[in-house]
Formats: sequence, structure tokens, C-alpha cells
Amino acid sequence: MTVDLLELARAVPDEVVEQIGSSRHVLAVSHEHPDADTLGAVLGVAAIVEHLGGRAAAVCTDPVPELYAFLPGIERFRTDPDPAAPYDLLVVCDCGALDRVGEVAARHPVLFERLPRVVIDHHASNQAGGTGEWIDPASAATCEMVALLAVRLGVPLEADEGSLATVLMAGIVMDTATFGHPNATPRTLGVAAALVEAGAPLSDISRRLYRTKPDAQLRLFGRVLDRLGTASGGRVIYSTLLEADHEATGTNPAHSEGLIDLLAQSETADIAILFKENGPTTRISVRTKAGGVDATELTGTFGGGGHPRAAGATIGAPVESARPRVLARADELVTRLAAQSGAGQLDIRP
Ligand code: 5GP
Ligand code: MN
Repeated sequence: MTVDLLELARAVPDEVVEQIGSSRHVLAVSHEHPDADTLGAVLGVAAIVEHLGGRAAAVCTDPVPELYAFLPGIERFRTDPDPAAPYDLLVVCDCGALDRVGEVAARHPVLFERLPRVVIDHHASNQAGGTGEWIDPASAATCEMVALLAVRLGVPLEADEGSLATVLMAGIVMDTATFGHPNATPRTLGVAAALVEAGAPLSDISRRLYRTKPDAQLRLFGRVLDRLGTASGGRVIYSTLLEADHEATGTNPAHSEGLIDLLAQSETADIAILFKENGPTTRISVRTKAGGVDATELTGTFGGGGHPRAAGATIGAPVESARPRVLARADELVTRLAAQSGAGQLDIRP
């Protein structure tokens, strides 16, 4: 093996290893509005448990978007647990807060309350920290952590003819934008190298997640990009996706994936914000420049969370009234940043 992960796998807390290693029937749950990291982590945990002789269910409260249909095993996902199954452990993956599992917890309150719980997550805003909770904000992706869990439990990354390596790599590619974000560390690259060696088709995964779109989605992007605005003297860039845009282009909300990353390509802006009309509420996606504003400071104001460079929130107000409130808070944050000289600017000199 090019990279020896055994040393790195010592980072997995003993109680997480013990609980997952001894479970006979795991209920593994992703966050709502799923992405490849949460889905890959759930599939990875399920594969690990099954490799050890146990059983596992994969649950996501929302239907899985078409974008992720290529992930091996994705057809396993159900929106609800099986009421008759003898689950003995709940494993919550990539959820910065427990309520991120979404409505499924309210549909099965007794089950979610009763089961012992393991949390595997990499959000710095995560408040958890008790027994069986493994929160590592230094990890680029929850899938990076699940790869180390597999190694620690002696499950070969080659398991299931490369399927395990593929789903875990998908999560890492998703959350690093193919190693382009500053969250990709030497450890991330080491884990990724081992996953490629174990059969993960890195280039193919990156193309599927970031460089393949239905034409209807490209039209949706066109409409929203055409509408972009700036605020705070160009230090904030934003746009708005209306429900009417979906009707006009034949798309659904999952097709907004990737749009915020285009706004974040602005040369001048420190903060990029995408407002998404969602009935009487508004979803925001936020991206910020390295060394600049902490995105969770903005989303935290509105009850959301995420990572310093990428964060989100749901605001209980229609888009027309939510937008000025968010832009006012963003203005405060970029003004404070401007007062700290030079911060937020990339300093790359030959
Ligand atoms: P995105 O903009 O891609 O939807 O989300 C970016 C990041 O913010 C992801 O890591 C996601 O988990 C987190 N995030 C998005 N929406 C919410 C939210 O409503 N609450 C919290 N706590 N985190 C969110
Ligand atoms: Mn993640």
C-alpha cells in the first residue's frame, strides 16, 4: 500500500470502534437534502457493519437526487426505517446538528430516542461531544473519517469489489471540490490515495459530481446567473433562485447543486450567497474566501450552520424579506473584515 493508514486510524475513538464493531443491526442515517458525503458515509458504515457479519439499513429522509444515482448501493436508501427490524444502534453521519436528519426523526420518535447513538461528523459547529460521538472538524469529509473507521476495524478498503472505496471517495471529492478547497489536508490526500489504490475511480467520480449536468440544469444556472447582484461595494455577490425558475426549466431543487460554487468564483466578493425560494421559507447557501469571513457566522445568525468556507441555513421568511436581512448581516461581516487589513485576500506571490 502506498499509504499506511493504520497510524492515522488510531484517531478513531475506542467507543465508536466498539459500538459499531459489536452492532448486529445498524440504522445508518444521513442528513436531509443529501449530498455525496452524507450518502457515502452512510453506505460506508453499512458496508463496514455487513463486512463484520452484521446487518445495516441506509436511511435518508429525502429521496436521493439523480446526481448520486451512480453510487454503488444507492438503491438501498429508504426514507424510513423498517418498523419491524431489530436495530441495536443508530449511526448519524455528516449531521452538524441532530435535527439535520430531518423529518424522519419526528416520524419515528420512539426509535430515535431509544437506540444508542453514534455520531460521525466533521462540522466545527457540532455541539455534540459525548460518548460515541466522533466530531473531527480537521477532516475534509465525513467519508475521510469512515475510511479510517474501516481501517481501524480491519475492513479492507477493497471490500465489495471497490464499492466501499468508491462511495467514500465520492464524499471526499464532493466536500473538497476534488481537492480544490483548503480543507483538503495531507491526511485527506493520504486517505484518497489509499481509496484509489483500492479501486475508486477518482476521475470518473469527479466528472460525475462536478462536470456532468442535464441541459435543463445548465438553463437553470443561466437564468440564476443572469440575475446576480452585488452589495457592500462588490464584496458580497448574490443571486436568487425562484420556484418559477424550476417550472420554466423543468428542474427540481436538487438541480441547484453547484450553482453557489459558480457565484463563489467572483474575483471581488468575499461572500457569495445563493437565496433559494422554498415556499414560505428561504434556503441560503453561503461560500467565503479562504482567510476571510467565517461562513457559519452568517448562517448561524439565522439558525443554520456548516463550515467556515461553506455553510447554509433555512430562514422562516419568504425570499423578499429574508434577502435584506441576510445582506445586512453580510455587510457587517465584510466591514469588520475590511477593518482587519489584508485579511480575506489571497496572497500568492512567485
Ligand atoms: P450547501 O450550501 O452546500 O447546502 O451547504 C454547505 C454546508 O453547510 C454543508 O456542509 C451543510 O452540511 C451545511 N448546511 C447547509 N444547510 C444547513 C442548515 O440548514 N443547517 C446547518 N446546521 N448546516 C447546514
Ligand atoms: Mn460533509
